[in-house]
Amino acid sequence: MKAKDPICSFCGRRKSESLMMISGLDGHICDQCADQAQKIVEKELGMDGLSPAATSKAESNGNKKLPKPTEIKSFLDQYVIGQDQAKKTLSVAVYNHYKRLNSKKSAADTEVEIEKSNILMIGETGTGKTLLAKTLAKILDVPFCIADATVLTEAGYVGEDVESIISRLLQVANYKPEQAERGIIYLDEMDKIARKGDNASITRDVSGEGVQQGLLKILEGTIANVAPEGGRKHPDQKYIKVDTSNILFICGGAFDGIEKIISRRVQKQALGFKSSHSKEVQDKKLLSLVAPTDLRSFGLIPELIGRLPILTALEPLDKETLKSILTAPKNALLKQYQHLFALDKITLEFSEEAIDYIAEIAFENKLGARGLRGICESILQDYMYEAPSTKNKTQLTITREIAEEKWNRADSQKYA
Ligand code: ADP
Repeated sequence: MKAKDPICSFCGRRKSESLMMISGLDGHICDQCADQAQKIVEKELGMDGLSPAATSKAESNGNKKLPKPTEIKSFLDQYVIGQDQAKKTLSVAVYNHYKRLNSKKSAADTEVEIEKSNILMIGETGTGKTLLAKTLAKILDVPFCIADATVLTEAGYVGEDVESIISRLLQVANYKPEQAERGIIYLDEMDKIARKGDNASITRDVSGEGVQQGLLKILEGTIANVAPEGGRKHPDQKYIKVDTSNILFICGGAFDGIEKIISRRVQKQALGFKSSHSKEVQDKKLLSLVAPTDLRSFGLIPELIGRLPILTALEPLDKETLKSILTAPKNALLKQYQHLFALDKITLEFSEEAIDYIAEIAFENKLGARGLRGICESILQDYMYEAPSTKNKTQLTITREIAEEKWNRADSQKYA
């Protein structure tokens, strides 16, 4: 027979004295003891060896184990070739960002408030800016989205307003604002919203300064009102509120021509600055000297520059780096093709000279890493067409001669 007022087998509290009493075979447990028990289990397991249920709880609490900067960098090394300086800067910045978030709750009473540090990456297109941001989000397991600054316009004009960026992040976070609020947004093409020239115009500068002003708001932290899934269907439907103050913004852009601005400044500072190095080496060096004042000369407003305190430059990719990109990363391009052919039971190999040739074409035609896939596609297309229907072929080796022949044919067709 059930007792009318059962007693907790752990603490002796009566059901009438607790919120809830769960009954087992031979005993009972009150809500407080159940809560205590869960904490003990979590502690015993350690936060990294969590059961799925505990993991999801830890996630929603934002208590996940935070990888250290060296761990972040070695994870990045698996996917991104070179760019050591940028990787180090990003690892430290991201570590500090999430440390700041995690400490915010526990140290609400301390006087020191660590400010958010958004990041700006400068480097030619195809040097790995997006890849770095994407890989960071992967290791941290936070919602991530990519947005393009060129589509943004001031509210009220045709185009997307800046809050649309937050709506994309919210979508990735399954419309859970508390998850989106810990996410990362990669904002590409930042250089395209630079102010064009210093003349104040009577017509409003829809594409430049106005957008910078709009961005400023979400970069510093504001409550963005985002339309729920599928947009707002009724005027009285509630917006979802997303606080952007903890969202990490990683911005990127090629900033074409900024070397000239840097060079002018550096020469002014050190009259007689001369180098015996080639122009390319000089440009590479110059880019790593980029300072906030150069961004200002380029056309970014000072307030926005102030909100992007971590500035890092990516190096242009040389031929050797392009070669490594083809073969070294965890999901390297050539590994992907080998996998594709393996599905048709064909072992695909590339001779060293063929790899050299592919990197050479990309480098000489200034196609960068982004061009590598296109080159490989052109070289392999005929084989990919035939492979599924050839039964007795089990081995395919791409030599330099084959690569040259296939590329030249594809190339001449393209530019004929
Ligand atoms: P960006 O954003 O700088 O224009 P991306 O990151 O989009 O360039 O790079 C384009 C493609 O080139 C990526 O998908 C990636 O495969 C390759 N890539 C570029 N840089 C690197 C790198 N440093 N290491 C490995 N792959 C790279």
